[in-house]
Amino acid sequence: MTTLAQFSLDYFSLQGKVAIVTGGNTGLGQAYAYALAKAGADVFIVTHGTNWAETEELLAPLNRGVQFYQADLSDETHIDGIVDACVNAFGRIDILVNNAGTIRRAPLLDYKKEDWQAVMDLNLHSVYYLSQAVAKVMVPQKSGKIINIASMLSYQGGKFVPPYTASKHGVVGLTKAFANELAEHGIQINAIAPGYVETKNTAPIREDEQRLAEITSRIPAARWATPEDLMGTVVFLASRASDYMNGHTVAVDGGWLAR
Ligand code: NAD
Repeated sequence: MTTLAQFSLDYFSLQGKVAIVTGGNTGLGQAYAYALAKAGADVFIVTHGTNWAETEELLAPLNRGVQFYQADLSDETHIDGIVDACVNAFGRIDILVNNAGTIRRAPLLDYKKEDWQAVMDLNLHSVYYLSQAVAKVMVPQKSGKIINIASMLSYQGGKFVPPYTASKHGVVGLTKAFANELAEHGIQINAIAPGYVETKNTAPIREDEQRLAEITSRIPAARWATPEDLMGTVVFLASRASDYMNGHTVAVDGGWLAR
């Protein structure tokens, strides 16, 4: 039985753990990969292209195992290769961060079928397929953490982004569904719902001065997040410190949802 005196900040350490981070070469994914590595994990970073030089340089001083792997997550046939390559490189998978995501904007009546499909394939279907494949490695290990990336549009409808909204609502549902089945195997699945963060993904909104001012004025913290604002939460959800959290989505939003 655990005693209170056993608790220490080591509960947040990821020493000896192996983490997969999808889309970990830029934006929020880069911040998640850095945070997990700084907390002690080796990281296996799945990227769409091969533009990982900046992230490689950023992570080098941390002296962790770092491997980059190119795959198109929206293509289901790439999923098993990711899992096999990580296990071959590091021998196990303790943490999966399903971060890769995309957004395509258009008015509802003009929304193209291929845009609907592309967003759903990456933001929702790849989360399901990769989590399922990784869970097959985690169950025999009897431990693991899966962290999905939701959004404010997991709670609200937004405009001009119907598949983004549908997929991010779906991510919250998958988080609960996976958590319910895997909790008994010592695996926790939770999600982070970032508020408005300054990344490439949100650049088009920030270029529209009126939109930028409208959004910023609605955020109680009175500023957009930077990727660093999300780093503590990902380490917490990846660590022993969150072992009794299952199926929860944590909003890191400067108070947006509280308003
Ligand atoms: P970003 O556009 O900067 O990065 C997206 C990442 O996904 C990139 O690394 C890209 O290479 C990867 N990716 C895209 N298509 C891929 C594919 N087919 N296969 C593999 N990888 C692919 O975005 P970001 O702002 O860092 O967002 C990361 C996640 O956070 C997304 O899921 C996004 O929906 C979510 N999010 C972002 C914000 C925000 O304000 N930026 C807010 C809420 C949620």
